[in-house]
Formats: sequence, structure tokens, C-alpha cells
Amino acid sequence: MLRLHDTALGRIEDFETRTPGRAGLYICGSTVYGPPHIGHGRFSLVYDVLRRFLEYSGVVVDHVSNVTDIDDKIITKANEEKRPAQDVAAQYEEEWWAAMSTLGCLLPNEIPHATAFIDEMVSLVSDLITRTSAYETSDGVYFAVSSVADYGLLAHQSLESMRSGARVEVNEEKRSPLDFALWKKAKPQEPSWPSPWGPGRPGWHTECVVMSLALLGEGFDLHGGGQDLIFPHHENERAQAVAEGKRFSRRWIHHGMVEARGGEKMSKSLGNVMLLSDLFEQIPDPRAYRLLVLQSHYRAPIEVTPTTLGDAAAALSRLDALSTRLAEAAPLEAMPADAEVQSAFVERMQDDLDTPRATAVLFDAIRRANLAFDAREASRAGELTRAVLECFAAVGLEAKDAAEIPDSVLELGRRRDLARSERDFAAADALRAEIVALGYVVEDTAGGTRIRR
Ligand SMILES: [Zn+2]
Repeated sequence: MLRLHDTALGRIEDFETRTPGRAGLYICGSTVYGPPHIGHGRFSLVYDVLRRFLEYSGVVVDHVSNVTDIDDKIITKANEEKRPAQDVAAQYEEEWWAAMSTLGCLLPNEIPHATAFIDEMVSLVSDLITRTSAYETSDGVYFAVSSVADYGLLAHQSLESMRSGARVEVNEEKRSPLDFALWKKAKPQEPSWPSPWGPGRPGWHTECVVMSLALLGEGFDLHGGGQDLIFPHHENERAQAVAEGKRFSRRWIHHGMVEARGGEKMSKSLGNVMLLSDLFEQIPDPRAYRLLVLQSHYRAPIEVTPTTLGDAAAALSRLDALSTRLAEAAPLEAMPADAEVQSAFVERMQDDLDTPRATAVLFDAIRRANLAFDAREASRAGELTRAVLECFAAVGLEAKDAAEIPDSVLELGRRRDLARSERDFAAADALRAEIVALGYVVEDTAGGTRIRR
């Protein structure tokens, strides 16, 4: 059974789900006001790996991840660019999913948008006021954190110690500096929705508690996000569910941040934020970033530098080279995967997703498979290689058989055949030269041009 570190408990526990064989995951997604960076990439990869591993283990996963499509940052950006907030949100959401697709991440099963759940959020806020857990002020509706006895459970701090550490508030109407906005009354020109407190928009913490419970139901299995979301976002989501008397997430999972060179925090003010578009320019193969993420423990920070990316790309080429070797060997389709490698991999993954040790098992198997190929032990080599390919695929890393000829090169071959059929030998020769320059061998056969490595 998979064991995961639970932030609320502060220890690793069995991941027992509400319904055996089925897991409902709510992962706090993106606020779409700018292009995604490598921290977002790590976020998507971590939960993609968790989901794929659960599915590999035979669990049916309901993966829900939201899009915050209305927020102060989106409104600021829209005002700067003098265009509607929904245009800004739509543009960056499209960029987000395009980048995640390049990283090979599966789309969540459901992608709730905050603006589609406003009525439900208004009902929740009304109910919290009735229960005296919330109160209205001149600029919105706030949640009274003192109404929840175990507020601070996720942060592992008491309300008292958090209150003394909180910054002094300018808003004198708030009863406590820790009280947070459930509803924000609209200022002129801001997008808004009607409510009993006048036009406005929901607070961020209210979105996720409403959407997770609406889509996954009470006592769903896992709520996740970055460590920066533990407090206040997740603490505040949970507080609302507790005030409503509802069973919220059974488990809490949080992943570590991405750091720049020298362990420096990545931030806009330091000017060291690497966008995913920059990353894709730096590394020829986006799978290298997945491998870098796999080679780090999800709870630890990762350093993304040209060196760590280069190391991951080199390791990836060892995997691809082995895959090519298998393809070039005698037909081994019926070859079973090595069971020992598989079970060692699964055991490490089940131990709080220990992907660094799980991938180490696979790289050791790659080394042994190559030795077996060298010694012409074809079946041994085949079994080990099959296990390596299957286990990497289980966490979303598909090996590329370098012997496969890319479509763009095959297209040159087709154009060459066409030129020859039209007796345009100059064009056919030029195309041959182009294919050879790309590192391939061109042969003329009865069926036309044949290209191989
Ligand atoms: Zn959230």
C-alpha cells in the first residue's frame, strides 16, 4: 500500500481511501495571470506522477484541479493591459495547458473554474454568517478564525502564537488580523457578481473549499499543493469546512519549491524566475525536466540550474540508448519484465513516493541490462530492459527508441521518391544530401527510399 506524508499529522501514514480502489484528489491549481514558470511545471509533474503511480497500482483516480479565473492579480493585469479580466484569464489558461502538455502531464479529470461556482460560494458565505463564523464589513465579508477551535492545525501553530506573529492590519473593521476575506465588495470598474452584500467576488480560500466538496464530496481522499499553500490557503479552506460541520480532506500533501542557482528562492523581485518557455528553449527534450523532478524527493526543494538540467538530459539519453538497443536486438516481444526490478521500484514508490530511490533502482537495472547485452545474454537483457521501460512509463517517462525515424525525416524521403518518379534527379539528390546531413543513411529499394540510422 502507498504511504504518504500527511502535513496535518506530520508523519507518514497509509493512504487508505474512502472507497477502496478509488482516490479523489483535489490539487490547488493555477491563478491564470501570467505565463507558467518552472515551479508550476514541478507542481504539475509531482501530481501527475502521483496520479499515474496510483493508476499503475490499479486505483481509479478522480483528479480535480481548479483554475482561479478571477482574482486581484488578474484584475490588475487586465487594468494594465486595458482589456477584460476574462481575456487575461483565458489567454494564460491556454498557455498553462499547452506548457503542461509539453511536459507530458495528463489533464485533470475535472477542471473547475471559480467563476462557474459563484452561486455555491455565495450560499456558503451566507451560511457561515448565519453560523456566526463570518461577519460583514464595509469592504466585504470576513471569516472569524476564532470560531474554529483547532485553527492552526496545518500550520502546527496555536491561534495565539499566530496572532502575536501576524502583521498589524490597516483594516480596523477586522476582528483579528488573521480573519480572511470570504467575499470582496467590488470597487468601481471591477468585474462582479450579485450577492446579499452587494456586487463583488469571492475570496480565493472560499473557491477551493466549495469546488472540492462539490466535486469530490465530504471526506475526499487527498488535498494537495505547494508548501507555500499550507498557510494561509489550506488552513483557511479547512477552517470553513470545519465551521460548516463538514468532513474535509482526509489527507494533506505538500510539495517543495523550485530554487535557482545556489539554493536561491525563485522570485520576481530577484529577477530569477525561469518560465517554462525559457526551459523548453534550454533543454532539447522536455522529458529531462520530468526526470530531474523524479530524481528529487517531492517534499524537498529542487535546484534547477544548467548543471542539474544537463545531468538529467545525460541520464535520459542512457534510458533512450537502452530502448534503442532492445529494438535493435532480436525480436523480444514475448519477453517478460524482470519482477525483482519491478517490485523494488514499486516498494520505493510506495514509501512516500521516494522517486529518487525508485529511479536509482531503474538506472542500476539499465547498467545491468547493458552488461547483459554486451555478454550476449539476450533474454536477461530483454527482461531487465522491459522492467526499466515499464517502470519509467508508470511515472510518465516514455523512453524514445532512437532507431525510430522522425516524421520530418520520413517526409524528406517521400519527397525524394516523388522527385525521382518525376525524373527530377537534381531535386532527388538534394533531398538525399539533406537526409544524410541529418545523420541518416539513404538506401534505394524496390519500394522506394529507405532511411535508417
Ligand atoms: Zn486552493
